[in-house]
Amino acid sequence: MTRDPRYDILFEPLAIGPVTAPNRFYQVPHCNGMGRVYPNAMIGMRGAKAEGGWGIVCTEQCDFLANGDASPYAETNMWDAGDEVYLGRMVEEVHRYGSLAGIELVHNGHDTPNLYSREIPIGPMHRPANWSLAPIQARAMDLADIREYRRAHRRAAVRARDIGFDIVIVYAGHDGTVPSHFLARRHNQRTDEYGGSLENRLRLFRELLEETREAVGDTTGVVVRFAVDEMMGPDGLEWHAEGREAVEMMAELPDLWDVNVSDWANDSKTSRFAPEGYQEDYVAFVKQVTTKPVSTVGRYTSPDAMVSAIRRGIVDLIGAARPSIADPFLPRKVEEGRLDDIRECIGCNVCIGWTQMTAPARCTQNPTFGEEWRKAWHPETLPPARADAHLLIVGAGPAGLEAARAAGLRGLRVTLAEAQEELGGRVTRESRLPGLAAWARVRDYRMSQIQRMPNVDIYRSSRLDADQILELGADHVAIATGASWRRDGCGRRLTSPVPGSDAAHVLTPDDILAGRRPPGRKVLLFDDDHYYMASVLGELLSAEGYDVSLATPMATVAAWLTHTLEHEANQERLHDAGVNLHANTTLLAVETGQALLHDSLRRREVTLPVDGVVMITARLPEDSLYHDVVQALDVTPDTGIRTLRRVGDCQAPGIIATAVYEGHRYARELGTDIDPGDVPFRRELHVIEPAMT
Ligand code: ADP
Ligand code: SF4
Repeated sequence: MTRDPRYDILFEPLAIGPVTAPNRFYQVPHCNGMGRVYPNAMIGMRGAKAEGGWGIVCTEQCDFLANGDASPYAETNMWDAGDEVYLGRMVEEVHRYGSLAGIELVHNGHDTPNLYSREIPIGPMHRPANWSLAPIQARAMDLADIREYRRAHRRAAVRARDIGFDIVIVYAGHDGTVPSHFLARRHNQRTDEYGGSLENRLRLFRELLEETREAVGDTTGVVVRFAVDEMMGPDGLEWHAEGREAVEMMAELPDLWDVNVSDWANDSKTSRFAPEGYQEDYVAFVKQVTTKPVSTVGRYTSPDAMVSAIRRGIVDLIGAARPSIADPFLPRKVEEGRLDDIRECIGCNVCIGWTQMTAPARCTQNPTFGEEWRKAWHPETLPPARADAHLLIVGAGPAGLEAARAAGLRGLRVTLAEAQEELGGRVTRESRLPGLAAWARVRDYRMSQIQRMPNVDIYRSSRLDADQILELGADHVAIATGASWRRDGCGRRLTSPVPGSDAAHVLTPDDILAGRRPPGRKVLLFDDDHYYMASVLGELLSAEGYDVSLATPMATVAAWLTHTLEHEANQERLHDAGVNLHANTTLLAVETGQALLHDSLRRREVTLPVDGVVMITARLPEDSLYHDVVQALDVTPDTGIRTLRRVGDCQAPGIIATAVYEGHRYARELGTDIDPGDVPFRRELHVIEPAMT
């Protein structure tokens, strides 16, 4: 297949100062939890993006001074010559496919408590370091510090050029770097030439930009990454006020304006809170005030939306982090006219969640993300299966669908049986909840793939039992029958059933998703899960007219959403929906007409009048079919079934990303001998120095 001419514009080269991007697909810097800590994994992942056609592939943030140490987060660093080898390998990997390599030079200023380096943090003024609420203060930079900082930035730019980077990014975004701290009035109370007027607050940023251009600009593209609006009204930069003025004051200085909104939570909004292209309104002015090319992000996954953003004069280049994680081969697929093969990001921020937990990122849509080097998993191709084996997969949730897709690609003969008429399992059900419609992409991508595979047969409305499975006599059987929410309240906090939880007016999320509702208007959601489910059920029931209370033993509602950057927006939404929030509160008993709770902050029991309770605490695997088959195979071993496995939630309930990963892993590794005692991936081992004398 060939490219549809309406996408030609996405494949026009673009000059960025002295270098030329081969197309308009720009993988902007993004954290990935690998960086300097797992450099081979990081290099493999960046290489996959270049292979997939991203014309520019950047590092994540790269800190260049020990007093701007991003630990415990796994970012890249370039503190001295010791960092040149791994960054050079990344450049080599990106160049191998003809893409440009970009590096984002960052110093997190007063944000970082410098947990590893133990250097004193620095910033425009004396103030506590931000991250981790660490009991550490940053000190105000004096003029000598500023000179030293500029010198280090310049040295880093030169080092980056010498390593082979084509683009150096000077970064004032996300409310998280020294130049953005200087720029923000709330962070900068200086009275010298670096404080006060916008011109003064912008001075350091301008100096960094000019010095970078002067140092490397004849051979290297100099890009500015800048947040034009901080989404905090007049308390921060606004696109129509100081945000615009700042761009006007430096309009022709960079080779590319890469503009967005800040902070990170606003820049990386989930699909629950913002649609594709949501930053356009904020950045649209930039092209009117500069002749330089402009780029932005906005979870663009549709080539039509990309073309439209260029044609409407908003941008010249499409920036993407999450869409490039979900599908490193997105540009190639557009180029080859394979739009149906695009694996669209669902905007869930699980990738960010793992990074925020200081772990290698994982992706709901792309199970190979981070495994390119570790497991030698290519994002698009799988090794052919050795024999024409027959695989039966029972259950077509995310695990079963991904197992079918991956096994189908390997050439196995696959039978996929699903009890329901609809495929997709929990993804289909949950995508009907408020704000989660994009999650259906997990199902839609996989269905569109397997429906075109002649070796995959799908049987809907086919609830199988053990006898039927044995009769089918497939070589391999995967049981992917999912999990169900517990009704008894057991979870993290409570380890024995809540008295009264067996009453008829106690429901689970499965009940709500199946259309059951509490018998009266007053409903209590007991959330010991701390992710999205209780909150979206709160939204749903509130919109249906229920009087909703939400109790959680944690000090804040939906605490894990801090990792996905949704916590604040979630809280606002619950507030707007009129949900009554009870933090530090544990459910003690469900009684007729009321719930008995314990408020651990005030150390007292509370009764709440309720007509129904929904338990959102934990899930249990639906594995009875698996055990039935195990038993049946004991009785009748001679069925032809060579392997039987539980896959996805049926093995251990988890997030959708885990089910997809486990489904993929199962299919990819089927037929290979992996000793369960071995580490199932390549490790990144440190070189140990000889003993000190
Ligand atoms: P996962 O996240 O592990 O994929 P889901 O709960 O989303 O799990 O999906 C499990 C799927 O398995 C559901 O669609 C369910 O209808 C299906 N299922 C459960 N039991 C059977 C069975 N006996 N036969 C066929 N399908 C089943
Ligand atoms: Fe998109 Fe979710 Fe994958 Fe992140 S984890 S890239 S948000 S699908």
